Amino acid sequence: MEKRVKPINLLDSAILRPERLAVIDAVKEVMTLAHVSKAITLHDYGCWRHQQWRNEENALVPFLSVDWYVANAWDQSRMQVNGEILLTLLEEEPWRRPELLGEHYDILILDEDLYTTQPDWPDDFIVAIARADVGTAISTHRLGTHPFTILKTVVMHQLAHVFGVPQHDRNDLDHRWGAHCTHDCVMRYPEKTPEDWEALTMDRFRQGPFCEGCLRDLRQFFAAEKDSTAAE
Ligand SMILES: [Zn+2]
Ligand SMILES: [Zn+2]
Repeated sequence: MEKRVKPINLLDSAILRPERLAVIDAVKEVMTLAHVSKAITLHDYGCWRHQQWRNEENALVPFLSVDWYVANAWDQSRMQVNGEILLTLLEEEPWRRPELLGEHYDILILDEDLYTTQPDWPDDFIVAIARADVGTAISTHRLGTHPFTILKTVVMHQLAHVFGVPQHDRNDLDHRWGAHCTHDCVMRYPEKTPEDWEALTMDRFRQGPFCEGCLRDLRQFFAAEKDSTAAE
């Protein structure tokens, strides 16, 4: 089984992000609910730039700055970032090699607007995109006037997707844009931005972030690794 308990690395396209604490708060809350807050370390790299992030011609050096990842997924004709390309760069980065950072999850927050070419998804923009076991890219571009609380909801939703929530074999799901929950839960399908994210945030305040089913899925994701190691 693929390793599931591994570090979470936070990256940001902005040098200064006032909502940063909301992002960290979201990650910590998901880890606590998943019972892995002691097992998983969170590394905040911020707007990471290696000492040699630009070469002698002042061009961005591959994989040596957050700026490079975003620039490589940038579509100049749309003035947006391609979410799949960004996640693929993160998935294939050399940092995942065991002798470097090793396996980890990435959460990349960016100011730039995101889009996706996945069929059946909206073709104008998306707020975020997640890839199971790899990470998520989240754009603040469309989140409106209450970015702290809403961004926290988005981060919790996306990180739970990275951890396979909701598990696709459940019979109480909404299958638009991947699998979403149908209960009062941050894993519901957010059709309109930012209105639906605001509604999910109100639900989160009223009843807590995850419904019973999603909380079970979240804990099961990490429990499955423990079970399989115990069985070996
Ligand atoms: Zn979703
Ligand atoms: Zn749910």
